[in-house]
Amino acid sequence: MNKLIEIASNSNNIAVTSHVDPDGDSIGSILALGLALKQKYKNVEIFTADPLPARYDFLVESKYIKRYEDVKDKAFDLFFALDCGDENRLGKSIDVMKKSKTVVNIDHHISNTQFGDINIVNINSSSTCEMIFSIIKDIGLTIDQEIATCIYTGIVTDSGNFMYDNATDKTHLIAAELIRANIDKQKIMYNLYQKKSIKNLRFLGYCLTNMEIELDGHLAIFEITSTLLDKFDIPSADIEGIVNYGRDIDGVDISVTIREESDSKLKLSFRSKHDDVDVRKLAELFNGGGHKKASGATLNASLDEAKALIIENAKQFIRR
Ligand code: 5GP
Ligand code: MN
Repeated sequence: MNKLIEIASNSNNIAVTSHVDPDGDSIGSILALGLALKQKYKNVEIFTADPLPARYDFLVESKYIKRYEDVKDKAFDLFFALDCGDENRLGKSIDVMKKSKTVVNIDHHISNTQFGDINIVNINSSSTCEMIFSIIKDIGLTIDQEIATCIYTGIVTDSGNFMYDNATDKTHLIAAELIRANIDKQKIMYNLYQKKSIKNLRFLGYCLTNMEIELDGHLAIFEITSTLLDKFDIPSADIEGIVNYGRDIDGVDISVTIREESDSKLKLSFRSKHDDVDVRKLAELFNGGGHKKASGATLNASLDEAKALIIENAKQFIRR
């Protein structure tokens, strides 16, 4: 931490960013760390490669988060990559990272490749936000209500509302401190979970009706084509939670969504609910990664090819 404080003090400018397809933990952590750094340091830029899903608009400072295009010509003395298991998760922002003097990698993925000059990786942390809570305190900055709101958002979204086993006693103690920092917990929950549009729920209904069950009830598959997203008028960022519904089914060990992306690639999301069903290893067969119970990958294949590959490869991971 002392080294980090020294480097930050000697930096003319600082970048804080995270992975493509921003989620609650990536947005919460870059905002929390970026806002905290601004208390003491000059020229702090918070940016993302992709636009943020609208459901995070309630994080008021999120509207000031810049895009890659706004910072791509700058060279930063200090570059924070948050919530990225490997540098490729940065997408095009990797260019900015490569031009930076010192790269700090702060993450909680077991698959982290230690790509930074300084690597702060805690695979037992529920979220990057949980780590950022301690880091902000350790570097002597203040967790105000705004920052606490960002951190709480990341913890809630990455721990499945404190349901997953990554929500430890420490996670709950931090949550208590955040509540004491006067966050509006109900407002956060309302914005994250109780503001869905009718078209989103109808889309969910369609996906559940058309979900495929394979491997004798052990594997649930959702196929989400771009035509389907167009038909229901759903931005791809809004399908985040669908994969979890497959996992909730009794007997299902692995749930997967196969989503067509605009550049004809497929985005795979995997979920498991058992300690002995490690979907990170399954994602790694597709050059992806993540956590034991939540992982993802991108794949260049047709939908039918992808489905066949997933079924074949999932066989060795499901429970017998
Ligand atoms: P999600 O399914 O919500 O997109 O991602 C679940 C988990 O898998 C997250 O922790 C995320 O970081 C990781 N993940 C998702 N997609 C990829 C990917 O393409 N590569 C790697 N290495 N990890 C991914
Ligand atoms: Mn995370």
